[in-house]
Amino acid sequence: MHDLLQIGPFPTLAQNLIDAEYRCHSRQDLELDENLRSRVQGIITRSNFAVSEEVIASLPRLGIIAICGVGYDLVALDAACRRGVVVTHTPEVLNSAVAELCIGMLLALLRRLPQADRFVRAGAWQRSVFPLASNLAGKRIGIVGLGRIGKEIAHRLEPFGVALSYFGRTDQRLQWRFEPDLHALARTSDVLILAAPGGSATACMVDASVLAELGPDGFLVNVARGSLVDEPALLDALSHRAIAGAALDVFDHEPDIDARWLALDNVVLTPHIGSATDETRLAMARLTLDNLHSFFERGAALTPVDAAMPA
Ligand code: NAP
Repeated sequence: MHDLLQIGPFPTLAQNLIDAEYRCHSRQDLELDENLRSRVQGIITRSNFAVSEEVIASLPRLGIIAICGVGYDLVALDAACRRGVVVTHTPEVLNSAVAELCIGMLLALLRRLPQADRFVRAGAWQRSVFPLASNLAGKRIGIVGLGRIGKEIAHRLEPFGVALSYFGRTDQRLQWRFEPDLHALARTSDVLILAAPGGSATACMVDASVLAELGPDGFLVNVARGSLVDEPALLDALSHRAIAGAALDVFDHEPDIDARWLALDNVVLTPHIGSATDETRLAMARLTLDNLHSFFERGAALTPVDAAMPA
C-alpha cells in the first residue's frame, strides 16, 4: 500500500474508496514524523487547496500530485515539472454539474429567485408586490473561456433562445460568434459568463473597464475562479449599480470572503459548489484514484495536466 499526503477533506464515500487502497496522512502527521515524509509517494488533494513548492520539496519520493478537480492554478506546477512530478486532474466528469449550476445561477440572478424566496418567507407578499425581473430569452450571452465546461454551458443555453458569443485566445470556428476582444464582448453582451481557468494569465481579466463595458443593464456569472475578476472593482460596480447584478460561485480568499458581498441585494452567492453533487464528486474521486493506480502500476497517468498550458 502506497503512502499519500492528503490535503483537504473528501466526501465520506470517496474517502472510503481512497482509504481502502492508500494510507493517507495529513500535513500534521508528516510534521510529527520525518520517516513518514520520506515514504510519501503521492499527494491527493482537491483543486481549491494549494500545493506549494515547499510541500513538493519536503517529500523526497514524491511522484504524483493527483488533484480531484479540473483547475490546477493553486499547484506549484513549475516546481512539480522541475522535479519530474506528474500532476493529474479530473477533466470532463464534472462538466455537466458545473454547467447545470451555471444555468441555475443565471436564472436565479435574472429572475431574482433568492430574493423572491426571502420575500415570501418574510411575509412581504401580503403587503407589497415583488419587483419585475428579466427574461433569459432574447439575451446576448458572452462566454469567457469556451472550453469543456464553457461548451456544455453554451449547449444548455441554446434552447433558451439566446444569442451566444465567446472570447478566448483562439477562434475555434464553431457555430457561435468568436469575439477576440474581451471589452468588445462585454459591450455587446447582456450577460458575461466566466468559464476560463485561473492563474496568472487570466488574473483580474475582468476589471473595472470590462465591467464599465458591460454596463448598468449587464449581468456577470462566475463559475470559474475568483482570480479572474478584480473583486474590489466588482464590489464597487455592484454597489453603485454600474452593472445590474452578479452570480458568483467563486471568490477571492474562499471561504473567508469579503463581508461586503453579504450586504448586496443584487448578487446570488454560492459556496464554490460547481461540482458538488454526489454523482459528480464520486466520479471525480474514481478518476483521481484511477490516475494514482495507473501511475503506480504502469508509470503513466490517465489525465495529466498539460503543463504547457496555463492553469
Ligand atoms: P478548459 O477545457 O481548459 O477550458 C478553458 C477555456 O478557457 C478554453 O476554451 C481556453 O480557450 C480558455 N482560456 C484559457 N486561457 C485563457 C486566457 N488566458 N484568456 C482567455 N481564455 C482562455 O477548462 P474547463 O474544464 O472548461 O474548466 C474551466 C475552469 O472552470 C477550470 O480551470 C476551473 O478553474 C473552473 N471550474 C470551476 C468549478 C466550480 O466549482 N465552480 C468546477 C470545475 C472547474 P483558448 O485556449 O482558445 O484560450
